[in-house]
Amino acid sequence: MRTKIIFSLLCSFILLQLAAQKTIAIKCGSLLDTKSGQVLQNQTILVKDNKIESVVATKSFIQKTDSIIDLSSYFVLPGLIDCHTHVLLQADITSEDYDVQILKESIPYRTIRAVKSCYQSIQNGFTTIRDLGTEGAGFADVDLKKAINKNEMIGPRMFVSTLAINTTGHYPIKASDYAWQLQLPKGLQEITGADEARRAVRSQIEHGADWIKIYADRSYYKIADGSYRGLPNFTTEEINAIGDETIRSRKKLAAHAMTRDGIIAAINAGARTIEHGTGMDDECIKLMVDKKIFWCPTLFVNEFVADGRAKAGSIINKQFTETIPATFKKAIAAGVKLAYGTDIGGYAWNLSQAKDFEYFVQWGLTPVQAIQTATTTAAELLEQQGLIGEIKSGAYADIIAVKGDPTKDVKLLQQVQWVMKDGMVYKSEKK
Ligand SMILES: [Zn+2]
Repeated sequence: MRTKIIFSLLCSFILLQLAAQKTIAIKCGSLLDTKSGQVLQNQTILVKDNKIESVVATKSFIQKTDSIIDLSSYFVLPGLIDCHTHVLLQADITSEDYDVQILKESIPYRTIRAVKSCYQSIQNGFTTIRDLGTEGAGFADVDLKKAINKNEMIGPRMFVSTLAINTTGHYPIKASDYAWQLQLPKGLQEITGADEARRAVRSQIEHGADWIKIYADRSYYKIADGSYRGLPNFTTEEINAIGDETIRSRKKLAAHAMTRDGIIAAINAGARTIEHGTGMDDECIKLMVDKKIFWCPTLFVNEFVADGRAKAGSIINKQFTETIPATFKKAIAAGVKLAYGTDIGGYAWNLSQAKDFEYFVQWGLTPVQAIQTATTTAAELLEQQGLIGEIKSGAYADIIAVKGDPTKDVKLLQQVQWVMKDGMVYKSEKK
């Protein structure tokens, strides 16, 4: 008798679950298979809850669904992935812009602004981000990620790195810009020595870091032969301690590194991604290819800050602007793995998050290859292959649509008209 009651309770529970599962058919005009690079016509995506159940030709789709979304006059592709963002930053051309945010805005106020950045990312069609450092806003990125996952607010899937790490005295806010008796906040966690390095990694992971972010070099300059150098921030013991602690915790290391002085040390310490890398040389390129290191070149942000910083006395970003096209072409020809990362937050969140695609195409990638940097390759960087960056059975229902064909004109990605994340529609400007 008791078994029978339990069995019938179980059956009704399962039935309730089935009834709660929502199905949506999305009829697509064109659909990009990001894996093969093929554009398919007249496909229908079956979404069940937050996952994609199947993708079939519209003419052979017979299943009854709870609702139908007609995107038959649109070009459909997976939600885009930005591997380098700062939701807690609102553009910093000069050091003063940066200091004002940290000194005059409380962390709760900055977090409120970040809620808006997260919403903006979704509106831009970027349904997943790797946020690389809170710039003095503590562990607020972990809270934002939690709030998004609990549906308290609208935002992308987040992979977070919390405070980021540099060595003592090498990151804003710069003490010498202020009265020395002040105890100023810092834009990240400072360490000195291998023990403090290990402590920082352990503490950040304890607080919820998915990635560890380091700043590997600073004070960049151009030398007579046209190449770039910088000052390494860490001793070999410090950077290796960070890499070792990160890898042993099964986490991944992302390194801000502009020149060989940061890039080579970071890769040798176990970094999986090089951020910016703007002043890389042939040896860096070779090492990145050999070790299959991902490169997030963050191109638009460099141009965004170049003039303002030149006016404030630093011409390095202007110099980078002149040499980056050739460096980019050389790195791509050599086979460096290119992943899409913008550094948005370093530039204003109301500017385009899809601007870097334009540079990629201008400097030799096909539009499909450019889109792959923000879909399949970015998913590989995040070890989320098959779950994001593709429209296929078993993937999350993160889907976007644009008018026109972005495989012919990549600029169209700057005007995403329809966005679904996790099976929920967050933007619909369909006409
Ligand atoms: Zn950054």
